[in-house]
Amino acid sequence: MGKHVTHWINGKSWSGRAERSGDIFNPATGAVTGTVDFASAADVAEAVASAKAAFPGWRDTSLAQRAKILFRFRELLVRDSPEIAALISAEHGKVLSDAAGEVARGLEVVEFACGIPHLLKGGFSENVSSKVDAYSIHQPLGVVAGITPFNFPAMVPMWMFPIAIACGNAFVLKPSEKDPSAALKIAELWAEAGLPEGVFTVVNGDKTAVDALLEHPDVKAVSFVGSTPIARYIYETSARHGKRVQALGGAKNHMLVLPDADLDLAADAAVNAGFGSAGERCMAVSVLVAVDPVGDELVAKIKDRVAGLVTGPGDDPASEMGPLVTRQHRDKVASYLTSSVEQGAALAVDGREGLPSGDGFWLRPTLIDGVTADMDCYRDEIFGPVLSVVRVGSFDEGMALIDANPYGNGTAIFTNDGGAARRFQNEVEVGMVGVNVPIPVPMAYYSFGGWKASLFGDSHAHGTEGVHFYTRTKAVTARWLDPSHGGVNLGFPTNG
Ligand code: NAD
Repeated sequence: MGKHVTHWINGKSWSGRAERSGDIFNPATGAVTGTVDFASAADVAEAVASAKAAFPGWRDTSLAQRAKILFRFRELLVRDSPEIAALISAEHGKVLSDAAGEVARGLEVVEFACGIPHLLKGGFSENVSSKVDAYSIHQPLGVVAGITPFNFPAMVPMWMFPIAIACGNAFVLKPSEKDPSAALKIAELWAEAGLPEGVFTVVNGDKTAVDALLEHPDVKAVSFVGSTPIARYIYETSARHGKRVQALGGAKNHMLVLPDADLDLAADAAVNAGFGSAGERCMAVSVLVAVDPVGDELVAKIKDRVAGLVTGPGDDPASEMGPLVTRQHRDKVASYLTSSVEQGAALAVDGREGLPSGDGFWLRPTLIDGVTADMDCYRDEIFGPVLSVVRVGSFDEGMALIDANPYGNGTAIFTNDGGAARRFQNEVEVGMVGVNVPIPVPMAYYSFGGWKASLFGDSHAHGTEGVHFYTRTKAVTARWLDPSHGGVNLGFPTNG
């Protein structure tokens, strides 16, 4: 008997009996360590009803009181960060330091949301017409839902719920069924921080639970992060049901290295951003674009660095890279090693060699050289420890390749030429850009989001765009009568 993970509804662990459930694995051993309940449409309706009941009280809770609860929640997250990191590592497979890092980045959004009294200030114009004032107020939407991927089970939900809740909404989270435990631990911390019951809810499950949220009339907005085909589906289905929606999708992030770059810096960056978290990051670098003549030297430097990387269980302090999340995903990622060679590329480093022993979902870092844009390993988002090297003749050719790619999440340029870097950040068709920084994840007070097939909708996550997404604006025009009111006038109101 392993652990049993269930929903969190109305401020407590759900006591019902689930009709369906899924297995939770330890990716480092391949063993099943527990089960997670899958919510039915009726279970989702129960969760949404409790969130709806909690909303009016939370909406009317003062900004000062909301901020106090957020500050308490922040302290508890800091206290229990090691425990959350251990839960993530055990179910996702990433190494503990990496898991702690994602909790720390999520915490930054909580800290941003602690400033909610300032963020929710509206505008005021005095005397827009004689004795008439106009002002805007930002109000919460009601019950809002978040549907999140396996790769950041703490950080990605924290892009959403701190701001949604701070704005006065009730939030229902549907985490990934592959690593659900961190969300339940976070729910306990909210309760300990004094958040009223029903304001933060977790429903576990798969497509059935997601569809029930997308179709529920009391869910007013949907935030999604995951793969592009599902993001498109979430966007279209939510919109059809009249909901506000932001759906962040997959990625194929290119790192462009110009001949004048510091090649040791670029090689370190490519290894860190390509193989950290086994490449299961939406901001991982998966394509290295080397401008002639630096390709051979860069590949040699990366090979040197990869040779020393330690792949092993996430809870072993010596490990630098853990396993992949599931056996099926590992097999799919490994299939690109075979197809890339069949299609004419060369394996500079073959990650199928020297694997740790046992039944874990292992693949070591892989470097594919001589990749061209028509190969499957270039066209698909692989989402594993596989770095493809494409050689190009010029800066313009490299930027054209990046712009032609359907994804537009993140990209980076490595150069010492300020003019080239400036042109790149100005013209490239990608939402997040790094200059000599390989994983340009914006700080919490900026907003996270890609362009093109990496985001459906018009709001990015967190920062002021997050506040905008989780509120709607009301414009008020007010006149307090004085003795000079003008009497009956059927003409269209104009200012005077
Ligand atoms: P996924 O799309 O398979 O799943 C994401 C969520 O959608 C999960 O909660 C899952 O239960 C649900 N889901 C899956 N299939 C569904 C279906 N048919 N109908 C309704 N809901 C469904 O993604 P994943 O494998 O968990 O995560 C990896 C993907 O997420 C990668 O493509 C990665 O690039 C992307 N990602 C993007 C960002 C970003 O900011 N753009 C961040 C993190 C991850």
